[in-house]
Amino acid sequence: MNKNVTIVGAGLVGSLLSIYLAKKGYTVNIFERRPDMRKTTMSAGKSINLALSDRGWRGLEGVGIADEIRKIGIPMYGRFIHNRDGSTAYQPYGRDDQANYSVSRADINMKLMDLAEQQPNVKIHFNERCTNIDKQKLNASFENHESKKITETKSDLLFGSDGAFSAVRLNMQLQNDRFEYNQHYIDCGYKELIIPPGENGTFLLEKNALHIFPRGSFMMIALPNPDGNFTCTLFLPFEGEKSFATLKTKEQVKKFFDEEFPTAVPLMPTLLEDFFNNPTSSLVTVKCFPWTFDEKIALIGDAAHAIVPFYGQGMNCGFEDCVVLNNLIEKHNENWSAIMKEYQELRKPDADAIADLAISNFIEMRDKTADPIFLLQKKIEAKFSKKYPDKWIPLYSMVTYMPEIRYSKALSEGTKQQAIMDKIMSRADIENVWDSAEIENEILKHL
Ligand SMILES: Cc1cc2nc3c(=O)[nH]c(=O)nc-3n(C[C@H](O)[C@H](O)[C@H](O)COP(=O)(O)OP(=O)(O)OC[C@H]3O[C@@H](n4cnc5c(N)ncnc54)[C@H](O)[C@@H]3O)c2cc1C
Repeated sequence: MNKNVTIVGAGLVGSLLSIYLAKKGYTVNIFERRPDMRKTTMSAGKSINLALSDRGWRGLEGVGIADEIRKIGIPMYGRFIHNRDGSTAYQPYGRDDQANYSVSRADINMKLMDLAEQQPNVKIHFNERCTNIDKQKLNASFENHESKKITETKSDLLFGSDGAFSAVRLNMQLQNDRFEYNQHYIDCGYKELIIPPGENGTFLLEKNALHIFPRGSFMMIALPNPDGNFTCTLFLPFEGEKSFATLKTKEQVKKFFDEEFPTAVPLMPTLLEDFFNNPTSSLVTVKCFPWTFDEKIALIGDAAHAIVPFYGQGMNCGFEDCVVLNNLIEKHNENWSAIMKEYQELRKPDADAIADLAISNFIEMRDKTADPIFLLQKKIEAKFSKKYPDKWIPLYSMVTYMPEIRYSKALSEGTKQQAIMDKIMSRADIENVWDSAEIENEILKHL
């Protein structure tokens, strides 16, 4: 096989994938719909922050660029919970040395593009929107945003890393019989807001934490940025009593925030402008199959598996796709027929698992992080896991800090653990006996 590859989409996953393939000697052309974000100003309300954890780091380390990315991230060692009454609580994510890194999506994307372009055999073509893929001929068509000129490319392999609303996926759906496709929107949207730095760039909330303001059916989170500000995201139902639909005037928004987030409001001087200027966006899960076609075309990242953001794993999962693909290239000695087959067989169950875990973590974050019974359960689990680290690894740690455990395995272990904890927590006297040898023995008995 000649080694010419087309990648559609220079987002996080497409950019990283190009580096992996370039290092294996492939000539890579990436076609990106948007202009070069390193040369344009980003529109307001789109500067999402992402939590980068061990699966993502492994992807970056695999091509030797983790240290470059660490420079633009801030470690977050736990969740800092802000209750409505002003009380706060801190919940470490795992061991003292375990952290998720807050990175700006735009910053990491720009850095990955820089690193991709440092490879002599990678070229990114901007303003080129994929409009069609001819599966038989392996031709891809791109329309230039400015000139409207259509370019056709032919390559030996083609990857669709063009995100949740992938054009490559749509083309494959239209050209393949029995293509499985499922998309699900949750009833909740999100809007970006900001807590700017204090005097001299000081952080107005604890710097090394992910802040959560849980309120039952909705929540706000805040992630730190290196320049001292926090990117806040309000997750709120579209409809209902407390929803985007009922926040139409400045008075309504002010009243809502004063009642629900009284400790955050004084830190948000541009709250009303931000609320009305920034878009309200929706959240989708996409599941599909197959991910590979004729052994020459593959979907990767959000194009194959878009998930809701509540486990902080979308990008991490996409980076892990690149690691798995790279391992398979080595295992099968560039036999792409074998690589493509095993890639989708391995990754599909894992992507489905993290999609389901992400939905259930939404409920945990907005609803349960303020619930005393849930917090007691976590305390029991943490104590047990500390004493018996080989018998009980918390689900969050498996997903976030243990890339050697597949998402699908983490999900099945977590389901077993939850069944045990349901029994333990159903005891009427649990608040008095949680710390006892009796509870410890009961957990051991079920394992
Ligand atoms: C609010 C929110 C919070 C999140 N938080 C986290 C988090 O904490 N941790 C985490 O790991 N993940 C998180 N994610 C998920 C993460 O952003 C995505 O999983 C990640 O961006 C996927 O990368 P990708 O490269 O597959 O797709 P994208 O980043 O969407 O990139 C796709 C690229 O393809 C381009 N493109 C699209 N269509 C075409 C076309 N027709 N032709 C050419 N180019 C095209 C796009 O312009 C884009 O550059 C979050 C997502 C959201 C929405």
